[in-house]
Amino acid sequence: MRENTTETTFGEMKTCIKAAVRTRWIKQHPSFSALDLYHSLNRVKQTTIFWLRTEHNRLRKYMYTKLKIGETPICQCGQGPQSGEHISKTSPNLGTRYGPSPPSSQKICMALGET
Ligand SMILES: [Zn+2]
Repeated sequence: MRENTTETTFGEMKTCIKAAVRTRWIKQHPSFSALDLYHSLNRVKQTTIFWLRTEHNRLRKYMYTKLKIGETPICQCGQGPQSGEHISKTSPNLGTRYGPSPPSSQKICMALGET
């Protein structure tokens, strides 16, 4: 005869914890949409967009203001700080290389599959 028990198995606890964490995360991030095309991009493309959105990159503005590296935060075009927003929207140097390794707009477009 099988013993009637109320013990929760490890698998059941794991499922409950995952569901609770997911529910809390969704409440904390109401604008999240799994249908956002961002989530259909591969890791390289998502990383490139993340660098631009967060300004955590190797562009002059970040290197100069956060890491105290370099002589100026100003872009080579002289029209403003070299930030992700600047090189992706307003710089006349759009499509040119911005130093040893930061993502140029050309690289960004290539990473996004656009030409
Ligand atoms: Zn510029």
